[in-house]
Amino acid sequence: MKIICIGRNYVEHARELGNEIPENPVIFIKPDTAILKKGSDFYLPEFSNEIHYELEVVLKISKGGKYIQEENAPQHYDEIALGIDLTARDLQQKLKEKGLPWELAKAFDGSAVVSDFFPKKNVDLKALQFSLKKNKELVQNGNTSQMIFSPEKIIAFASQYFTLRVGDLIFTGTPKGVGQVAENDVLEAFLNDDKVLHLRIQ
Ligand code: MG
Repeated sequence: MKIICIGRNYVEHARELGNEIPENPVIFIKPDTAILKKGSDFYLPEFSNEIHYELEVVLKISKGGKYIQEENAPQHYDEIALGIDLTARDLQQKLKEKGLPWELAKAFDGSAVVSDFFPKKNVDLKALQFSLKKNKELVQNGNTSQMIFSPEKIIAFASQYFTLRVGDLIFTGTPKGVGQVAENDVLEAFLNDDKVLHLRIQ
C-alpha cells in the first residue's frame, strides 16, 4: 500500500509558504511505514526542530486502476477520512533550497496520521468542512470547495504515473493555517462538527 500526497492544493496555503499556484498537482509519496499506528502518540524526531501539522482530507482507493478517466474516478474510492501530513518544515526548506526531493521531510515514520474512514456517500465532498484545533484553539478551517484540484482530477492525474491499488490512500492537500507542534500539544480534527481524530505530541 502507498500513500499519494498532494502539495499546494489550496491557494491560500500555497501563498502562506511563498509558493506559486501549481498548473498540475504537486505529488509526493509516503511509504506504508509512515502510517502512525492508531491511538499512538507522535514522538518528535531528533532530525527536526520544526514539525508542522497539515490537516487534509484523505481518500481510500476501493478499486484499482491505471489511466483512470476523471469521469470514472468516483468509482475508484468509496471512503474518506481526515489525516495529518506531519512535515519537518526546517528540513523541507533546506531540501527545497537545494532542489532535492522532499522525502526525508515528509515520509518519515509516523508522518501520516489517519482517522477512521467514513463512507463517501454520507458526506458532500464538494463542500466538506473540516478543521483542526491545537490545544483547543482553532488553527485550520478548510472546505473542500476551495481545492484547486478535485479528488477526481487528482485520481486521473496520479493514475497516469502510478497504478492505484485497493487500500492506497490519497492525502488531498492542506488549507491555510499550518504551524508547528511542540511536546505535550494535543491536536483534534473535526469533520463538520464531529471530532474524528485526537493526537498527542510527545
Ligand atoms: Mg500536505
